[in-house]
Amino acid sequence: MSVGISYALKGLMNSEFLPLCHSPQPAPGAGLWFVFCGERLLASEGTDAAQILDGDPPPARGLALLRWQYLGRLGERDCYSGEVEAETPAPAGMDWYSLRRLFARLSDELFGLAARAYQIVEWDRAHQFCGGCGQPTRLMPGERARECPNCGRHAYPRLSPVVMILVRDGKRLLLARSPRFVPEMFSALAGFVEPGESLEETAHREVREEVGVEIANLRYFASQSWPFPHSMMIAFTADYAGGELKPDLNEIEAAGWYEVDALPMLPHRVSIARRLIDAVVAEIRSGGSS
Ligand SMILES: [Zn+2]
Repeated sequence: MSVGISYALKGLMNSEFLPLCHSPQPAPGAGLWFVFCGERLLASEGTDAAQILDGDPPPARGLALLRWQYLGRLGERDCYSGEVEAETPAPAGMDWYSLRRLFARLSDELFGLAARAYQIVEWDRAHQFCGGCGQPTRLMPGERARECPNCGRHAYPRLSPVVMILVRDGKRLLLARSPRFVPEMFSALAGFVEPGESLEETAHREVREEVGVEIANLRYFASQSWPFPHSMMIAFTADYAGGELKPDLNEIEAAGWYEVDALPMLPHRVSIARRLIDAVVAEIRSGGSS
């Protein structure tokens, strides 16, 4: 494993946080609070970095919680997520921000926790009633799950695995852009895992479908929780093994081979896509073979 890649893996670890399901007390306590109004997170924007509500619980600041969840401990601090009614005014000095706006302004650790909080709030909101029989559900002890007391159905937070593949041909990288990207941005290829597939099968299929290229030497790079809305990004590198680059225009607006000294606009540094590209670029610049 190259130096660049081990560095990237270390950067994605969130080792200080201890996930727990059950609050140490029955009422919302003091700690780090990830409070959402719809899809927006309560935060304050400092000059350098955004801050999350820290200290007294939301009710002590005039925020009525619809639901709240205990997330676990970050060092000595308890961490919670919570949800308030639509149109709730933010406390003085704070505002509601989309996660996309905040992700460049939170530390990796806080962004990871915000992503976790967002997905747990969404899951809890969406599973108050059983998807099988419609009865109200209840939290299961000791698990991040809700169960139906009537029919026994369980509901767990949903994750959608996405495989990301950065294809390399010697010193060139295969980058593509989706019509959903911000203008001019290019990234690695990516696609959802289909039922019944292994991650490796998804990687080969996606690259073949999206750009008509075959790959070899698939190697795991790192993974990242991506809360838009509940993806798990699993990133790989691969070597070009044949085929003519021919984008499927239903999914890909443009694709090309890029030299490391002439790269197009890339995703933000917080995303695993950028870390993957940066690590491979560093490897190529240091003369590393693929
Ligand atoms: Zn049920």
